[in-house]
Order: sequence, then C-alpha cells, then structure tokens
Amino acid sequence: MPRATIDYGIDLGTTNSAIAVLQGTTSDVIPNNVGNEITPSAVFFGKNGQEYVGQIAKDRQKDERVASDVCIEFKRRMGTDHLYEFKSGTRAMRPEEVSACVLINLRGDVRQKLGEDVQAAVITVPAAFEARQCAATKMAGELAGFSQCALLQEPVAAALAYGFQADVAKEYWLVYDFGGGTFDAAVIKAEDGSISVVNHGGNNYLGGSDIDWAILDQLVIPMLKTNFNLPELKRGNRKWITQIAILKNAIETAKISLSRSDTAYPVECKFKDAAGSEIEIEFELTRAALIRIAEPIVLKSVEICKSVLSARNLSPRSIEKVILVGGPTLAPYFREMLQSSLGIRLDHSINALTVVAKGAAVFAGTQRIQGNSVPVARPGQFDIQLTYDPIGADADPTVSGRVSVPSSASVAGFTVEFVHQVTGWTSGLVRLRADGRFRTKLVAEKGGQNIYAIRLVDNMGAEQASVPDSISYTIGVTINEQALVNSVAVARANNEADVFFSRGAPLPARARRTYHSTHLLARGSSESILNIPVVEGEESRADRNRLLGKLVISGTQARHDVPAGAEIEVSVDIDTSRIIRVKAYVPILDEEFEASIVYNGLSPSHQQLMVDHNAEVSRFASLRDKAIDAVDESGTELLDELGDLDEMKTLIDLAEGVPEAAEQAQQQLLALMVKLDRVEDALEWPALVARAREAVDELDANCREHGDAESRGRVRQIRMQVTEAIEQNRAEHLRRMLADVNNLNHEILSSLPEYWVGLFRVLVNKLDQWGDHEAAQHCIGQGHEAISQGNVEGVRNAVTQLFGLLPGEKAKEIERGYQSGVN
Ligand code: ADP
Ligand code: MG
Repeated sequence: MPRATIDYGIDLGTTNSAIAVLQGTTSDVIPNNVGNEITPSAVFFGKNGQEYVGQIAKDRQKDERVASDVCIEFKRRMGTDHLYEFKSGTRAMRPEEVSACVLINLRGDVRQKLGEDVQAAVITVPAAFEARQCAATKMAGELAGFSQCALLQEPVAAALAYGFQADVAKEYWLVYDFGGGTFDAAVIKAEDGSISVVNHGGNNYLGGSDIDWAILDQLVIPMLKTNFNLPELKRGNRKWITQIAILKNAIETAKISLSRSDTAYPVECKFKDAAGSEIEIEFELTRAALIRIAEPIVLKSVEICKSVLSARNLSPRSIEKVILVGGPTLAPYFREMLQSSLGIRLDHSINALTVVAKGAAVFAGTQRIQGNSVPVARPGQFDIQLTYDPIGADADPTVSGRVSVPSSASVAGFTVEFVHQVTGWTSGLVRLRADGRFRTKLVAEKGGQNIYAIRLVDNMGAEQASVPDSISYTIGVTINEQALVNSVAVARANNEADVFFSRGAPLPARARRTYHSTHLLARGSSESILNIPVVEGEESRADRNRLLGKLVISGTQARHDVPAGAEIEVSVDIDTSRIIRVKAYVPILDEEFEASIVYNGLSPSHQQLMVDHNAEVSRFASLRDKAIDAVDESGTELLDELGDLDEMKTLIDLAEGVPEAAEQAQQQLLALMVKLDRVEDALEWPALVARAREAVDELDANCREHGDAESRGRVRQIRMQVTEAIEQNRAEHLRRMLADVNNLNHEILSSLPEYWVGLFRVLVNKLDQWGDHEAAQHCIGQGHEAISQGNVEGVRNAVTQLFGLLPGEKAKEIERGYQSGVN
C-alpha cells in the first residue's frame, strides 16, 4: 500500500547527512552503500563529469590534484548566490544544487536498502536559519525530485527523537546541537503529549570546524611557516587553497581520533611547497593542546545556552536534561566541559550524529502525503477523504471523513467501520450522512502502530472497495505547531520596521496591511520603482535587521501612473516551512503584484564591509569622546563591553577569499551597529527630548495661529504621543515623532506665502552646499522673480526644486531604510 504519511526524515547537515524512516514507534536510520549511518555532505565531480557523493568525495580532499574540486560545507552558503565551480567539469552549481546531490544520494541508499523510491521527505534546518536559507533548502528538496518536502527545525527534531515515546507530565529540556558549522540551543517544553520550543538561540557560524580552523591557525601554520617554504600560507589565500583543505582534513581526522584515545595523534599529509618540492608534514596533536584550543569555542556555545535560558527566566535547575546533538559532543572532554559549565544532566542515549534524522522521521510520520502521490479510486471503488492526526497523544483519537459520491450514485444507507487489525476492536457500523460524511472515535494501543481496516458497506449489506482501505495511528508525542524564529517586518520609508509577525508566532501565518506610496510610480518607466523591503529581525530600525528581500513594482508593470500617497495593500504569508510570500495589491490599478520574495543572496563585498567597518570604528571613537565628555559612565561601560573591534577586522580581511567570513562579518557588523545605536541613543537622549519638546511647542503655537479645528486635534494627539515616547525612553520612536511634528508643522504653514519665502531664504543661504551649482542658480533666479511678482506657487516650486538639489539630503534619503517606497 502506498504511504499515507511522509515517514522519511533527512538531516541535511553541514558536515554529515543522514536519512531515517519511521516504522511504527521506532525510527530507523538507513545505512548507506558503505554501511555507515551518516554520509559526509561532500560532492566531487570526476574528469568525465561523474558525480561522487559522501565519503568517497570527501576522501578526494587528500589528493592535491583534485582537492579544490571537492565541495563541502555548502550548507553554510545556502540562500546566497554563490556558484561552485568545478575545474574537472564544466559545471557551476548553486549551493542548493550541490545539496540536491546529497539528497539524491540518500534517496538512492533507501532504494538500495529498502527497494522504495522515496517521494516525500522532511528535511531539517537549524533553528537559526533565516528565511532565505529555508527557501534554498526547500528548493534543494525540489531539485532532488521530492514531490513534497516539509522543513523542520533541527532542535525540534532532536527533542522529538527523545520525546516521541516518553512519558512526561511536564519537563523542560535544553537541546544542545553543536554541529560542524552551526550551533543551536533550544529550550523545549514537553507537556501533555506535545512539545514546543520555548526559546532558542544560536550562531550560524559556530561549530566543530571552528575547532579545526583554530588548530590550523594557532598550531599548525606557525609550525609550518618556521620549517618549510610556505610564504603567506593562510586560510583565504587562493594560492594555498588546496594545501589548506588537505591540512584541515588531516586535522579533523586527528581531532576525531582524540575523542577515543588520549595519546597524541599525528597530523600527516604531503604536498608541494612554494618552490614545487614535495614536503611531508607530520605534526603531533595532543589532547591537552586540543582541549586548550577547543575550550573558548565551547564556552561561546555555553554563553548562548545561558542567555537562551535567562531570557525566559529559567535557571539551570529547572531544566531536566541537556540533549546532546552533533559530532563534537561525542568527545568525552567536550562533555566534561559542558557538564561543568552548564551544571545540568547530559543525555546522549541516542547517537548524537543521527538523532536529528531520527526525530525528523518521527515528524514525517505526522505529515500526511498530499497531491499526486495520494492514491486515487478507480471505477467501482469509493474515494474516502480522511481527516485525522496520524500521530497524537490521544488514546481515543477522532477520525472524520467523507466518502465521495459519484454524481449518479447515492450513499444512502452506507456504513463505515474501523477494525483494529491486532486487537480486533471495532468502531461499530457508523452511518454515513447524505453528503457522505461521517465521524467516529478510534481506540488505540500504546507502544506500536495501530492499523485499522476500513470496511465500507452499502445499503444492500455488500462490502465496497474503498481507497484507502486502512488507516494507521500511533500514540506518541508530537509538536503543537512550528513557530516563527525571527520577527518579520515590512520596512517603511521612515526606516521603521512594521512588524507583521513576532518571533514565536505560530505558523502558518498570514496578514495584510495598507500602506501609502511615498512617490510617483510613472507608467512605462523602468527607472520608476516602488520598493517594498521585507526584513527579518528584532530591531525597530528597519535597516538594523537583515534584509530578506524586496518586492519591487516597476513603472513598466503599471497600466497607469500611481501617484504618491496611493494605497498599497501588502500581504505577507509564511508557511510552516518558513517560506515567505509577499503580495502587493494596488487598488488604483486594481492589480495584484505577486512575488515570492527575491532573496538578497549576494554576499557582502569586502569593500563594502571595509567601508561599513571604518564608519562604525569612527562612530565608536566619537561616541567614546562624547561619553567621556558627558561623564556618562553607563555609556563608557557599554562601549567597553564591545571589546576589540580589531577581531572583526581580521574577519573582514579573511572575507576577501572566504565568502562565509564575509557573511559572518556582516552579521557581527550589524550587531555592532545595533549596540552603538543604543549608546548613541542614550547619549543623545537629553538633547533629543529637548528638541522634541521645543518642536511640539512651536507646532502648538503655529497651529493656534494658523490651524483649523482638525489640525488642533492632531496636535493634541501628537503631543500625547511625544510625551509617551519620552516616558518610555524610546529614542528611535521619538525621532520618528519629531519627523511627524515637522511634517504637520509644514502642512499647517504651507498655506502661508511668508512660510515659503522664509524657506527659500534659508535655502539660498546654503548656496555653498549645492552639488549642481548651475541648476541651483537657475532655481534661485526663478525664486527671486516669483517673490517680486508675488507668485507664491513659483516660490514653492523653486523651494521644492532646491530641496531636490541638496546633495546631503538626497544621499541620506537613499541610504536609509532599505529604500522603502511605502509609509
Ligand atoms: P553537522 O550537523 O554540521 O553536519 P555533525 O553533527 O555531523 O555536523 O558534526 C560534524 C562535526 O563533528 C565535525 O566538525 C566533525 O569533525 C566532528 N566530529 C564528528 N565525530 C566526532 C568525534 N567522534 N569527536 C569529535 N568530533 C567529532
Ligand atoms: Mg547537525
């Protein structure tokens, strides 16, 4: 019988991948062709274009001639536009295509072992994966030929593997997943037969391979440089890329061996030096040295665990156990470090390398197969659409359904019956309603899969064939719902992040909001563009969050002009796999623009990173001066906590040759910007408050003199909001309120000729700042003429044009807020 549920779970890891299948209440890992439960996520193309996946590909790293053609750690590049080039073949592949090679390989292992062609699978992703990385993973599943693939967070999978058949009333667990390249920590609550994520944290750039790199940088390279002719041998230097890969591989082998034996292990490899002579390298890695190097890396992960707990006011005592996941946690010294720094019992009773795949299979057992893989009734058979949970905590689950009635027939007098195949329990005859619907309860046994035969009997008492003809149900712990990992917001033109869904919101989620365009969208013009940026993160300033991508409406798509201020209805949709869809409906065009979000897949350039870093370093310096001048101790303290900015500089230097270093550097830069914003806000707060109060008073006075009843009402409201922002200490909000105050002031005064004349004079005084001197002179001439003729409209025109010519203003407008065109 075809499967009713997905049942297959895949851990598509940075370093290793695995596939498992749920069989009743046990989840079995399917060994690969060489009998291993895990397959290295490595892909290699031979000379003739032949594809190799797994250990055989990873082993090619030891061969200097082809090592650079072995593609590994591509999970770190998911969701970017990176292209892997293979020297030996003519192909260039995107990270999701390389990932698909691994998925296809796993599928092949199942075909070989079980003779089954897997059609659908659950694929796991780190909790810290951003939406664009999830989208790329889903794409990999599609490229591998899965007709259905659902994504699941790795920590949830691990918790399911442990919790599926466990009997717990209420417990908190900490899933500690230290993989090859990513670290995830998640607090899980197991309660009443379901588990949910209470909080999570992580770092996409922390893992076992950092230990390898640290050994390379701190021990091996210094030794090699003194003994051999290997100038500028370092990670990221293209010249040595092959040698570095060979060394890293040898280091990893030594590191893994030291998990079992504690005698020093040789790092051995051969390659050519700068002069082309063959050199033999032998280096002894001791466990003591390994521990010394690994410790700070492990402690970084412990810090993340602590903050994940404290953010929910949980003490280590309230955590029942730490579930260990990931290769590095196999090392005894690693476990000791964790035990002593966390002080919580560790549980590693399920293999840390395959626990995620096992849990993914459990989740796959809860996912019904949809679409074309579902069997269809042939003539003479009755199709039954069933609604039920294939796995759940209930011992007497409800099942409902509808028997499809061919147009010429009737199901009057039909009954349906469910019969347990082992215990013989029966639901009794359940009568179908006229429309073919029915509902009943089943009685299930614990500890195994319950299979019920479905017996459909017609009004004459004759049994009829139904599709499906059986249904299965397992009592087990499942997950309530998947939750959103980061808040998702639309960036407004004023750089405010307008949060659509907050972190932790249940998925799927959908919402719609109305905005107003900030400028004209000119019909037919390809230069006229309306951007709707979507960001992911927790900051209220839009540009301090990661840009997911933009929905872009171009003038070429518009049938008419869309004036500034036109309504734009934006809807955002997120499915349970965290795939985001954004649509914009423009009522004035009566047209909907749909775009799966265009992911911002480019790695930041080295140059841009340098520019941003320099800007932040000087901001840091000037804030420090300000803090010292203002004798602001908390400000100086905050700045001191930021520590060494040079460390980031090292990373940025590395970014030239190592794209993931570029992304990591960008992440760190963003975090630095946010922290500096906070210091800046704190230092500028008194001046900002004074400015806001003054502006409101001025607005009030102007309004009393020139405003109408409506504007007086608005001023009262704005005053209240400003007071509130001051009381709540919200700097960015107050800044935005200040902009509103100025806008309203402008609106009230814009009917007065003297306002425009005054503005014109102010602008003329800024003459030296004009970028385009000639154009500015021309406008100024027109303005003077208009004043002498008493032509208010003319003065107004001159002012608007002069504003447009102000170099600083324009630049500022463009660089802020991801260039959103809606407010
Ligand atoms: P991922 O989830 O990224 O695929 P894994 O959980 O498979 O990663 O872990 C891979 C990492 O674990 C690598 O850095 C590898 O060197 C390390 N590793 C694997 N086995 C061991 C071991 N026995 N002792 C120490 N480290 C190990
Ligand atoms: Mg993993």
